[in-house]
Amino acid sequence: MSEILVVGSLGYDSIETPAGKVDRTLGGAANYFSLAASHFSPVRVVGVVGEDYQEKDRELLTSRGVDLSGLEKKHGKTFYWSGAYTKDMNEAITRVTELNVFGDFNPKLPAHYKNSKFVFLANIDPVIQLQVLEQVDQPMYVGSDTMNFWIQSKLLELKKVLTKVNVVLINEGESMMLTGASNAIAAAAALCKMGPQAVVIKRGEYGFVLYTPADGYFILPAFPISEVIDPTGAGDTFAGGFFGYLASLNRVPQTKDLKQACIKGSMLASFTIQDFGVNGLAAVTKGHVQDRTQAYSRVISLEDSAK
Ligand code: AMP
Repeated sequence: MSEILVVGSLGYDSIETPAGKVDRTLGGAANYFSLAASHFSPVRVVGVVGEDYQEKDRELLTSRGVDLSGLEKKHGKTFYWSGAYTKDMNEAITRVTELNVFGDFNPKLPAHYKNSKFVFLANIDPVIQLQVLEQVDQPMYVGSDTMNFWIQSKLLELKKVLTKVNVVLINEGESMMLTGASNAIAAAAALCKMGPQAVVIKRGEYGFVLYTPADGYFILPAFPISEVIDPTGAGDTFAGGFFGYLASLNRVPQTKDLKQACIKGSMLASFTIQDFGVNGLAAVTKGHVQDRTQAYSRVISLEDSAK
């Protein structure tokens, strides 16, 4: 098992979906990622929060063994995002993004983080992603995520990140925005030409597309959930399950590992969307994941189910 180093947003979200709304609930890519990845491997977080960040929100991660020695607390306010979902639960409409203490964050890795073998550059300013990666001695496997906000504001820096990662995980709309491709299949191949050796395109209820130039496409649906309460964080949860599983293998991942990792990510993400914020994910036990994985194998099986 290897430790995973993750950098990404930690913050508070206000979210409105057809199922209701919540104000200033715990969110941020690194929070969802760490909760999911810690099911499989130890996690080290790099990030920054403000004075309004609550102790119970730190404890949620430390209670899972997540190392927060690289989480700075600074004078000012914590990252804040507000978003809404209307009919299309696969695409958030951003209302407000306040970077706050992330605006001038200058990450400094604690010495013991520098030997991390698995590094995930979760959604945050690509400049910060690069600054973190430069401080890791000899990473074995590096992944990244991003979103429309950074594609629009920091495209050059983002393209530089892509040249330095082994795998990129990105949602479907953003994959098309970044490549100009008109579907996920073309976008996956185009993204691989920008640097990474593997691409995972997350498609909400339609699941994922995994692509590697050597082995081609691997495509599966998400676990079927009829009542989606809040899709926020599903992508980050997927990434956490995906990377957590890969780090648990402690070797350079092969394509078959990436396939299994996609399924782990999908299973965990299916819990995130069943409640607001991190609540669904935080309540998940190993038993829940096992049961759901069994149910999923029936969903994708070609056999009749046993009577
Ligand atoms: P997703 O998995 O794509 O639904 O990610 C949702 C999370 O991304 C929310 O909890 C937000 O706090 C976070 N987020 C939204 N905008 C940004 C941004 N520009 N940079 C980093 N994180 C963000």
